[in-house]
Amino acid sequence: MFAYGTTSRRLAGRLARPVQLAAASQSNARTYATTATAASTVVGTEPQPPPPPPRQWTPRTFPVSAPATDPPSGRRPNGKQILRDAVAATDVRNDWTREEIAAIYHEPLMELVHQAGTLHRRFHDASEVQLCTLMNIKTGGCTEDCKYCAQSTRYQKGTGLEAKKTESVEAVLAAARTARENGSTRFCMGAAWRDMRGRKNGLRNIAAMVQGVKAMGMEVCVTLGMIDGEQARELKAAGLTAYNHNVDTSREFYPSVISTRTYDERLRTLGHVRDAGISVCSGGILGLGEGHADRVGLLHTVSTLPSHPESFPVNALVPIKGTPLGDQPPVDFTDVLRTVATARVLMPATIVRIAAGRKTMSEEKQALCFMAGANAIFTGDKMLTTECNGYEEDKAMLDRWGLGPMKSFEKSPKPAAVESEYF
Ligand code: SF4
Repeated sequence: MFAYGTTSRRLAGRLARPVQLAAASQSNARTYATTATAASTVVGTEPQPPPPPPRQWTPRTFPVSAPATDPPSGRRPNGKQILRDAVAATDVRNDWTREEIAAIYHEPLMELVHQAGTLHRRFHDASEVQLCTLMNIKTGGCTEDCKYCAQSTRYQKGTGLEAKKTESVEAVLAAARTARENGSTRFCMGAAWRDMRGRKNGLRNIAAMVQGVKAMGMEVCVTLGMIDGEQARELKAAGLTAYNHNVDTSREFYPSVISTRTYDERLRTLGHVRDAGISVCSGGILGLGEGHADRVGLLHTVSTLPSHPESFPVNALVPIKGTPLGDQPPVDFTDVLRTVATARVLMPATIVRIAAGRKTMSEEKQALCFMAGANAIFTGDKMLTTECNGYEEDKAMLDRWGLGPMKSFEKSPKPAAVESEYF
C-alpha cells in the first residue's frame, strides 16, 4: 500500500516554486525600472543613446536518440520514477516485479544510496545499529554440499576443519553473557546441520540455550538447517525470537552452489518459521559467481514473501581454501552497497544486516552501508569459522560515526541467526 499524500505535497511544493520565482522576478523588474527612471530624472539633461537592437536567438537543436531499452549500465529508462515512487511509500509492499527491482538496483549508485537512506530514516532511527554476536554451537561435519562452506564434510580434506561436538548449555550461556556485557542485544547460535530430523535431544538442549539467553534479556536466534512445523513450534515455545535460513541467491543460480537441498525446501522452512510466529531472518551471499540478475532474483524472492523477513543479512563471500569457491575473487564493494540500498528500498521495515565479509571492509565502506540503510552488524571474536570485527573495534567505530546500539526488542519481536559464516 502506498500513501501518495507526501508525493502530492512535494509535487505541489515543486510546482508552486516557479510561480513564486516568476512573481519575484516580475517585482524585481518593476524595482529596476523605477530605479532607472529615477536615475534618468537626475541625469535628465544628457541625450540618451538609442537602445541596442533586440538580440536574435537562434533556437539550438539537440540530437535526439531513441530511449535505450537496455542501457549498457543496466539502467532502466523508467528507473528514476520507480525509485521515487518506492521512496514515497509509507508502508511496505510485497508485490514487486523483477523488472521494478532491476530498475531500482541499476539506478546511479549515489542516488540509490541517498534515496535508500531517506526511506531508512522514515522507518528506523538511523542512529541505531543492532549489535549481534554469533556463536558456532556445533562446528563442522555437515552433510550438505554448499560450495562456500568450510563446515561441509565434503571439503574437509581441503579445509582441514575438524568436526566438533555440540557445545554445552553452560558454555553457550557464558558466551552470551560476555556478548551482553559488550553491548550485544542479540545472540545467535549456529549449528552445522542439514536438518533437525532425529535430533530430539539436540533440540531439547537448544531449547535450554534459548531459554537461558532469553532470560538475560537478549533476543535469541538460531540457525539449525531445515526444520518442520513441529520443531518450529517447539523453538517458539522455548522463547526463540528468530530463525535464520538464507536463500543465498536467485532461484536460477542456486543449483550452481548447492545440490543437496532445493530452493523450495529452503522456502518451506521459512514458511514453518513464519507459521510458528518466529521472526524470519533470510538473506544472501554475494560473490558466489552470480550476476546482477541473480542479486535482483535474490531480492525478488525475499521481498515478495507473504511477509518480508524481519532481517535480511547481506554476506560477502569469504573464500575458504579447500572449498570449491575458495579462489573466488572478492565481490566489488559497489555491488554490496547496491544490494544493501535496494534491499532497504524494497523492504523498508526490515533490519538489513552487514554479515560475513565485513572484516575486509574499511570503516568508510561500512559507513556507506549504514547510510544506505544497513542497521545491524555481527560483533565479537568469531563469526562461525571466520574472523569477526571485535567488540572494542566496533564500539569505537560506531562512536566515531555518531551511531549507537539498538536496544533489545526495539524493533518488534524480531529476527536473526546463522548458517555457516553466512547469516
Ligand atoms: S552452509 Fe550450513 S547447510 Fe551448507 S554445508 Fe555449511 S553448515 Fe551445512
